[in-house]
Amino acid sequence: MYKAPRGTSDILPEEQGYFRYIEERAAELCRLYGYERIDTPVFEDARLFIRTIGPGTDIVEKETYSFEDRSGQAMTLRPEGTAPICRAYLEHGMHNLPQPVRLYYIASIFRYERPQKGRYRQHQQFGFEALGDADPALDAEVIDMAWRFFDRIGLSHLCLQLNSIGCKLCRPHYLEELKVHYSAYGDRLCPDCKARLLRNPLRLLDCKKPSCQGVAQSAPRSVDYLCPECGEHFESVLRYLFLLGIPFEKNHRLVRGLDYYTRTVFEIQPKGEAGAQSALGGGGRYDDLIEELGGRPTPAIGFAAGMERIVLNMKEQGVSPPAPSGSKVFVAYFGDEAKDEAVRLIATLRRTGISAFSSFGDRSLKAQLRQADALGASYCLILSEEEVKTGTAMLRDMAKGEQRRVSMGDVVGQLQKENH
Ligand code: AMP
Repeated sequence: MYKAPRGTSDILPEEQGYFRYIEERAAELCRLYGYERIDTPVFEDARLFIRTIGPGTDIVEKETYSFEDRSGQAMTLRPEGTAPICRAYLEHGMHNLPQPVRLYYIASIFRYERPQKGRYRQHQQFGFEALGDADPALDAEVIDMAWRFFDRIGLSHLCLQLNSIGCKLCRPHYLEELKVHYSAYGDRLCPDCKARLLRNPLRLLDCKKPSCQGVAQSAPRSVDYLCPECGEHFESVLRYLFLLGIPFEKNHRLVRGLDYYTRTVFEIQPKGEAGAQSALGGGGRYDDLIEELGGRPTPAIGFAAGMERIVLNMKEQGVSPPAPSGSKVFVAYFGDEAKDEAVRLIATLRRTGISAFSSFGDRSLKAQLRQADALGASYCLILSEEEVKTGTAMLRDMAKGEQRRVSMGDVVGQLQKENH
């Protein structure tokens, strides 16, 4: 028996409501904030991700799904949404549009991770990006939008964590200090952190191992090493967030898993789980990324949230998507002539916008009614010899268990009336 590959899952019909609900809330939010949808390919030139996410990161080192296509080109399944958007921004000359360019996406993301609750090898992200402006008011807009998104979904008990990790001018000095601090603990660091110390020191702060967390507690804080411009930028972001009434906590250990971030970084997590691998979403500035890809300097900021984790949190918090609206009509029949009539009637109902179906085959009327019930039909139309002869149908209200005879010509009108 084949199974879905480890770390992936089928989104069955009963789960679809959650995902559609999140997508609808996302699209509404983006309309309000002026973000337009973009879809990029599922795979890209592998170099795009190595270049942007960073060769020393977990994602690029251990987690990409990469393959050579039949012409020998190295391709990678999208492990995050931002780099493809920057590639598209450049490819389509979006710097000629009014800046910032505001875009959003809903896309599958692929990472070869160790599967666990809320961590999969394929997941879906809703993300948005504002490209082409360094104004701290734009940081506040993106953070505000992320915060309001969860509110629209109906999730509560969340916290917003914020940090600034500086720019390419001030960060090197900070990283040096960080290395000095961690080097003093040399042997006590976990093997991953020993490697990070050499290759990606910022990620040291992100280690979840208890032994390393103590070292992180006393580590120097990036905000103390910001250059005057970054310091001022961060202060302004905080001021705008106050202005917008967004509650936030500063988290001096907040860094993100990709190398391209600069200045503002933020995450939204369930309250009380901060630090665990529980972030519902996160984002930050990436002021150098487009330049890194060959464009002119184009500061930008974005955010992405994992849809499966949102669904998990909706279930934990008892937030359900609304039940699908509009009633379903099941057409039951008995006898060959009645079957012809049923096929015709179903087609007529569908053409008038009424959801109608039958299970066909040769079941007894009783079995068909059971099916109608199990499939959640609100009404059942019953056709047997008697109905065919008299040009009528029995209309059964499934919830009330009542039925009445209606003439064939009146069926559509009656059902439309019942639906309102
Ligand atoms: P990241 O691109 O790592 O910042 O991820 C953005 C958001 O996507 C996270 O906050 C999670 O909600 C979600 N996410 C990231 N990785 C996974 C994964 N492997 N499985 C499920 N959700 C994920």
